[in-house]
Amino acid sequence: MRIFENYESEVRGYIRSFPTIFEKAKNSILVDEQGVEYIDFFAGAGTLNYGHNNEHITNALLEYLKKDGVVHGLDMATTAKKEFIHSFQENILKPRNLEYKLQFTGPTGTNAVETALKLARLVKGRSNIISFTNGYHGLTQGSLSITGNNEYRDESYISRCNAAFMPYDGYFENIDTIEYLRKFLADGSSGVDTPAAIIVETVQGEGGINVASKEWLQRLEAICREFDILLIIDDIQVGNGRTGEFFSFEFAGINPDIVTLSKSIGGGLPMAMLLFKPELDQWKPGEHTGTFRGNNLAFVAAKTAIENYWTNDDLSKAVFYKEKILKKHLESIVQKYKQYNISIRGRGLVYGFEVLNDSSVASEISAKCFNNGLIVETAGSEGQVIKFLPPLIIDEKTLKNGLEIFEKSVEEVFL
Ligand code: PMP
Repeated sequence: MRIFENYESEVRGYIRSFPTIFEKAKNSILVDEQGVEYIDFFAGAGTLNYGHNNEHITNALLEYLKKDGVVHGLDMATTAKKEFIHSFQENILKPRNLEYKLQFTGPTGTNAVETALKLARLVKGRSNIISFTNGYHGLTQGSLSITGNNEYRDESYISRCNAAFMPYDGYFENIDTIEYLRKFLADGSSGVDTPAAIIVETVQGEGGINVASKEWLQRLEAICREFDILLIIDDIQVGNGRTGEFFSFEFAGINPDIVTLSKSIGGGLPMAMLLFKPELDQWKPGEHTGTFRGNNLAFVAAKTAIENYWTNDDLSKAVFYKEKILKKHLESIVQKYKQYNISIRGRGLVYGFEVLNDSSVASEISAKCFNNGLIVETAGSEGQVIKFLPPLIIDEKTLKNGLEIFEKSVEEVFL
């Protein structure tokens, strides 16, 4: 018996998708209480780019704790925080010629998004925010109001006020969505108030792995400049190397005004932060504060991750190499089951697999995968897309084994 009696009625969570109790984890493998091993292609919804219990991170944390490093999380100045900031500036921002101030916003992604919205409104003195169809930015008041999925919003009675949705890249087959947006902004009678900011994911994670092109992002940035709108890139899920480069927007050569980071930035520990151009710092002292905004263990983990993976381009190269393996294998499945009209898309190590002829099979495939020892989640407005999000450090053999399990599970559903 895998499921803990009454577990489902006692707690809320992913238990319905993955009905077992996990006890241990290392790198890309999860182990449950029965000793059953699972290859993890979900990676804590993108929090585990460096894997479960990454040995560098675990060792750094143990060492820090042994020497009585400050653990308390209030946003005070500490050695761990100072060292993380220094490392982030030197290894991440400077080599990319990016100049940003850092703000620690709380333990989880939505805290960074709320801060970004509040700052943008403060700086521009406008309330409207534009976000995109199928975008996902979190489930608290502000972030929920700009999350493009009615299902998340309807029963929480969050209105869409101060939020306008525009079509994401590829939403329409034959409409230039950037021109569409430009027209709305330029036309005073369209009803779209000039927003304080436009917030966008370069690859929509929860929304079903929809990938924005380089040109689309560049033209979006140009619109922001033309209408004096701040550009916020939500890099919570696809930042931190997920697409192969540290920031998911690097490939497009754009320079967002604000960037939100969370999930893997803390090396697996809770951390969320905002990057913003220095001239946007219009906060009054104490204007946006809170208790758990400086988790020192997360700073230690984050600095260790940066120093082990971002002082050279080895991890980037490895991600692009493993992307080829992943893509090739998925393409072979697409070929094998042509009659199902399967779409695959992604960048780096975030990929989606959608059976266009039958949106309901994704959850069946995910359930089969679980029974066969692979954790994969579904995404998209109807859960119609299988999402591949393995740890970036996954070894080639485990990646291939996971893909074999995936293929076998697809076969079980299709045959
Ligand atoms: N933005 C994006 C792009 C996300 O993927 C998520 C979480 N899936 C969030 C914001 C919200 O983060 P959290 O769930 O940690 O609040």
